[in-house]
Amino acid sequence: MTSESEKAKLQEAAALLQHARTAVAFTGAGISVPSGIPDFRSPGGLWTKYDPFEVASAHALDHNPRKVWEFMLETVDLLGRSQPNPGHLALADLETNSRLSGVITQNIDNLHQRAGSRLVVEYHGNFQRFYCHGCLRECPEQEVMDHCSRSIPVYCPSCGGLVRPDVVFFGEAIPAQAHQHSLELIQAADVLIIVGTSGEVAPANVLPRQVKLSGGKIIEVNLGQTHYADITDIRFDASAEQVLPQLAAMVLE
Ligand SMILES: [Zn+2]
Repeated sequence: MTSESEKAKLQEAAALLQHARTAVAFTGAGISVPSGIPDFRSPGGLWTKYDPFEVASAHALDHNPRKVWEFMLETVDLLGRSQPNPGHLALADLETNSRLSGVITQNIDNLHQRAGSRLVVEYHGNFQRFYCHGCLRECPEQEVMDHCSRSIPVYCPSCGGLVRPDVVFFGEAIPAQAHQHSLELIQAADVLIIVGTSGEVAPANVLPRQVKLSGGKIIEVNLGQTHYADITDIRFDASAEQVLPQLAAMVLE
């Protein structure tokens, strides 16, 4: 049940989105938890089972590619079993109806795209895309999976280089294009919806502050404490899966 005060907040947030010049969403792991993907950092998440330095770092790629690939196969399997949830779908719906300009996501799970979002800036890459570390050729997912069914790690048929997912590993820089594209969206935004990200991971966590500094409004949908308390205008301490569909319905009614 939605209380009267929650309803008033939803109406206030809906009005911001209706009158926004450019509204942008900034998402993190929390939006995909209801899709069956535990936050890597939380209890039950992959980082309680694997040491990220051992399986998802530039160092690991160089020194233990087999272990990197064991981890990747488990992740690909986890992501393959997940489905977009009503939170992803609500953001796609807002974009389709021209109430949202795009999504900047820290997630690598491809769920925004599968939900129908078209402008998605993948700040940390995408786990369903692969490329060769040697010649930088993009490797089709099917080719990679066929190779995996025979042996891992996967090597490039053209140059023999190691194939890797197109994600940002620990110790690696954010891809210049993704960073540039995020900045453009953030600079244009006068309303930002922060969803499922508590602001711990740099450098992505500074993006929302830039919207606030340029006079924009911040709507936050996050469970529990976050690092954005000082910049948030309207905050929902709730799951994106519950709040975003209600919000989208009000904006689009
Ligand atoms: Zn190659």
